[in-house]
Amino acid sequence: MKYQRSSALFREAQRYIPGGVNSPVRAFKAVGGEPIFVKEAKGAYLYDVDGNRLIDYISSWGPLILGHAYEPVLEAVVEKAKKGTSFGMPTEIETELARLAISMAPNIDKIRFVNSGTEACMSAIRLARGFTGKDKIIKFAGCYHGHADSFLIQAGSGAVTFGSPNSPGVTQGTAKDTLLARYNDLQSVDDLIAANEGEIAAVIIEPVAGNMGCIIPKTDFIKGLRERCTKAGILLIFDEVMTGFRLAPGGAQEVLGIPADMVTYGKVIGGGLPVGAFAARSEIMDYLAPEGPVYQAGTLSGNPLAMSAGLAMLTALKENPEVFESLEKKTRYLHEGISGVLTEAGITHQINRFGSMISVHFTGEPVVDFDGAVRGNNDTFKAYFHGMLSKGIYLPPSAFESYFLNDALSYEDIDYTIEALRQIAPELK
Ligand code: PMP
Repeated sequence: MKYQRSSALFREAQRYIPGGVNSPVRAFKAVGGEPIFVKEAKGAYLYDVDGNRLIDYISSWGPLILGHAYEPVLEAVVEKAKKGTSFGMPTEIETELARLAISMAPNIDKIRFVNSGTEACMSAIRLARGFTGKDKIIKFAGCYHGHADSFLIQAGSGAVTFGSPNSPGVTQGTAKDTLLARYNDLQSVDDLIAANEGEIAAVIIEPVAGNMGCIIPKTDFIKGLRERCTKAGILLIFDEVMTGFRLAPGGAQEVLGIPADMVTYGKVIGGGLPVGAFAARSEIMDYLAPEGPVYQAGTLSGNPLAMSAGLAMLTALKENPEVFESLEKKTRYLHEGISGVLTEAGITHQINRFGSMISVHFTGEPVVDFDGAVRGNNDTFKAYFHGMLSKGIYLPPSAFESYFLNDALSYEDIDYTIEALRQIAPELK
């Protein structure tokens, strides 16, 4: 495949945009090479500016669960745009999307819309702090909750890819209020709660993690967290930016059967437009301005185009709940295919999968936390990424990211993907 035009566009972009991209992972730094510039996309396929077609396993990092340019979302956005793109005044569609989201997700009475997952998580912890009157939060190494200061402490995703899990620019004052636990390790949580008694407002977690590759919570881990938070009067925040409306209509709360006190959303809830949200029971949400004292706002929050995309997306998912099962089956089929080829080729690997989230780690040990993810062989990962790309398959350009399957992917696409892996497998040794 040739990437001349992408390469030229990247050079030009670098003159005006730091690193040529508006979000770091897009730059392919972890795997080497240059980013691909997209021209358009439809269903399971991306078409780049050089005329290459790529089978997409990222789906815009999660939102496009039904594939690119999904017609009902497009129609809703286009129709809405004709009536004006922003008012900074209340609109009926905000209530419609709120009502629908609350009808699908358990344990939430009220929801506030923002413009990104970062804003959702940032606002959720401010509200948790205001509501509880406590300052500290616990997060888990390798979890990513957006780029607000409080979360750039041993963060996953691009933060770790770029070697800055603790970013310069985050003050010591902020960092000291973020306590760090190990994923799947309740003892590390117990130690922090004991050492900071009465000071912890919230525990925030990706209930299924996707920012150190995909990491699956052990059976009793999330249950144990719930028990500890309840006992200590700590709010349990599920960051469902990836898992919400993806693992099931009710997200990880539904699949794991564990209620959170607060939940953050992004990605699918916006149908591919910039939307985030945070939600909780009324008692907590009414603590937010204008009802309550905790301030949070946004010029474009509840934007009509974004709301119409989210409404069309969630409506489609609610009306076609078999999508979740279909995605799970496709992802299992991919899992078995990849696993079969790599095993046959004698390549040490682990595959973690939960619903339509999956990742391949090139290590012999089970990957259950951040340290495990870091142990993966990055040279093999790079060869895998570029090998697959050369066959027209677009996988996450970092080992610290999950794949997000979309339901436009066909079994033929997956068979093609597995066959491509068979061809490149000898290069992975
Ligand atoms: N939380 C999680 C779990 C995420 O995966 C992400 C982004 N990938 C965020 C928060 C931040 O969302 P955004 O990039 O929309 O700010």
